[in-house]
Amino acid sequence: ESVARQQNVPRLPPDTNRVEFDQAIDELKQILGEEHVAVNDKPLVDGWYMEHPNTHDAFHIALQEDLVSSAVVYPGTVGEVQDIVRWANKHKIPIYPISMGRNIGYGGTAPRVSGSVVIDLGKRMNRILNIDAENASCLLEPGVSYFALYEEVQRRKLPLWIDTPDVGGGSVLGNAIDRGVGYTPYGDHFANHCGLEIVLPNGELLRTGMGALPGKDGGDNPTWQSFQPAYGPYSDGIFSQSNFGIVVRMGMWLMPETGHQSYLITFPRDEDFPDIVEIIRPLAQQRILGNIPQLRHVIQELATTARPKSDFYDGIGPIPRDIIREHASSLPVGDVSWVFYGTQYGDAASIATQLDSIRAAFSKIAGAKMLLPGDLPPSHYLQSRVSVCSGVPVLKELDWLNWVPNAAHLFFSPIVPTRGKDAQVVHEIVVRLHAKYGIDLFPTLCVAGREMHYIVNIVYDRSSLDEKRRAAVLMREMIAETAAEGYGEYRTHILFADMVAGTYNWGNNALMRFNETIKDALDPNGILAPGRNGIWPKRFRGKGWEI
Ligand code: ADP
Repeated sequence: ESVARQQNVPRLPPDTNRVEFDQAIDELKQILGEEHVAVNDKPLVDGWYMEHPNTHDAFHIALQEDLVSSAVVYPGTVGEVQDIVRWANKHKIPIYPISMGRNIGYGGTAPRVSGSVVIDLGKRMNRILNIDAENASCLLEPGVSYFALYEEVQRRKLPLWIDTPDVGGGSVLGNAIDRGVGYTPYGDHFANHCGLEIVLPNGELLRTGMGALPGKDGGDNPTWQSFQPAYGPYSDGIFSQSNFGIVVRMGMWLMPETGHQSYLITFPRDEDFPDIVEIIRPLAQQRILGNIPQLRHVIQELATTARPKSDFYDGIGPIPRDIIREHASSLPVGDVSWVFYGTQYGDAASIATQLDSIRAAFSKIAGAKMLLPGDLPPSHYLQSRVSVCSGVPVLKELDWLNWVPNAAHLFFSPIVPTRGKDAQVVHEIVVRLHAKYGIDLFPTLCVAGREMHYIVNIVYDRSSLDEKRRAAVLMREMIAETAAEGYGEYRTHILFADMVAGTYNWGNNALMRFNETIKDALDPNGILAPGRNGIWPKRFRGKGWEI
């Protein structure tokens, strides 16, 4: 493989020889223009978040060469996306759509099947098609980032918030269809989208929701961004975390701006963990908590200083608990164990009442202490959460990447009931397996009223094959052990998609058989993102692609 790369030979799509590939690419250049088709035959460069490659997974877990495209294409219009899809069907070449590809830790821009042609939608299709200030909504193309949307709302001086995930450089549309989350009350991105326009695997164009009803005089439907399900089966869901279509437009709701107050609460003991979860549950169910709060272990107070691990510990293996304690003592939060990050919304009087209820609830845990941004230095992590939790995109979260040299990260993110004993079961598995593979444990729990996303950020040195191997084995064991207890992931890196999809196997794999039925009906040639989310079209099934 790397020999081929050194000789500037592209990785070919499956079942396609060099002559066929070159002919097909020439045809594509005729359709799109030479400058909008780039064959992937140069050395791979990992770059960084803002200058990320669209040729491979910059955060490689296996070899850098393992998940690469054969070419990248840049459509400028919906019509060109349709042309590319028809081209792919003609040549039986797999295509892999990305919006911006800043999906770091989940595969980035890499296709699941190496040699696929990546469709980079975001580069040229990056218009904000509409912002409706009265309806508090917008209509976007795939290349609109959180930063771009935020700046446009500011430029127009609209009293609206966007909702941003931890890092703000990604695509609003791409993140929503991958069911990513943010931290204002509009943090569930897919739940706050309204209306899609989709290029289907046969090249046809579909509008969902009210968009299916034509507006007056050929215009867009006036309630396309107002009412999600419209009439008949609610089809939007099958275009999220799937390979059933290419989303070329999406409506999103925006939140009317309001007052906000971020805070943190520290807890002194590691074993307070299940009790904290028990206190959060009713607060979240009663909607006293204003957003999806995060509960983090104090080790992350070290990591979010942006200093490297070697500043704290130069030994081998995970940083020991007593060393974390020693350093935490000199940090603003002190020698504590768990740190809860929340934000409340509304006018000042309402926020004051909410904070009183929250303080009272957590005071049941001895030593719990609430701190406000004013109690902490300007460099503290809470200050960046003030931005994120009020819809201002930031890059602060990238500080994680200072922890080890050549850092990359990977997320393990099971869904767990918001109950102390369930939290304990998952936590015990995760702690034990991290110790087994010698990897620092960074748990963040995003806690809602009935379930929480228990998110582990595995940070590894991507120049070390050994570290990558341990990270991958750790992932696989955590997926298997938590699934055996009944817990499953909400999202995963493309390399673990088959395994995670395989855990959702109730009723003799009824769900996957259903997905495969849809896939084969919509995409008989199996050209669109084969293998994404573990869904393989007929052409690839049972031929050794699943891992
Ligand atoms: P972001 O830049 O916000 O992280 P990505 O472009 O990386 O988003 O999208 C995340 C994943 O979702 C991609 O890897 C791809 O598989 C899928 N995806 C993104 N955009 C589209 C789209 N417009 N249509 C279909 N699938 C998409």
